[in-house]
Amino acid sequence: MAKVTEGIYFIQGMDEFIPDSHTYVIGKPDSGDMSVIDVGLTGKGAYKVESIKKLGISLSSIKRVIMTHTHLDHIGCLNEVKKQIPHAELWVHRLEAEPLEKGDDRPVYGMDEFKGMCQMQYGLKADSFKFSVERKLEDKDILEIGDMVWEVIHIPGHSMGGIALYNEVANILIPGDVVYADYAIGRFDLFGADPDALKKSLYRLAELNVDILLPGHNQIVQGLPKDYIRKTAKMWEQYLR
Ligand SMILES: [Zn+2]
Ligand SMILES: [Zn+2]
Repeated sequence: MAKVTEGIYFIQGMDEFIPDSHTYVIGKPDSGDMSVIDVGLTGKGAYKVESIKKLGISLSSIKRVIMTHTHLDHIGCLNEVKKQIPHAELWVHRLEAEPLEKGDDRPVYGMDEFKGMCQMQYGLKADSFKFSVERKLEDKDILEIGDMVWEVIHIPGHSMGGIALYNEVANILIPGDVVYADYAIGRFDLFGADPDALKKSLYRLAELNVDILLPGHNQIVQGLPKDYIRKTAKMWEQYLR
């Protein structure tokens, strides 16, 4: 848990037998307009909210939760977080917002076996992942939030409505589970995944200048080597068809 750079705070996922996504809080502290990016796995809400407070960020300044995508390890504790930050809006790409609003949880669990296991493990009910979404994000939306500017980049492949957030001023990329450190990429076998789309998404991200890579899991990277994402895409290309 730490400040990464001006306007970017990192709360490490607390993995157990199911991974918990990292949570980022973005926005200049003086703006009073902070955003939480991904909340994390079911059961991790108290840890994430406590961590936000420990960073010295007041819960009243959290104006919204933005999801890179809605897999359980990213959205699982949203009900817990919303209880403590009820005024926060929820912003999700349209293609995953629509199922969320209908209570269609296939994008959340990704596969039926996992759904059964999680419902048992966490006592989740059939309608646990029905939410209203205040803003449905689209590719190329420009978000002027917290005295920073972020571009929304739709990067399907790992999930259908996955997004990256990109800050061009400081070359910061928050790509969810599409690309990680160590030349790893997200899985592409779950509900809504599409290997060919993932390949195109990786090559699209490869066009960006990225210094700071803030993925959904594992290490964060500052001083990302030039062409890192292109190299990663090339390494995986043969499997992405
Ligand atoms: Zn994840
Ligand atoms: Zn995921």
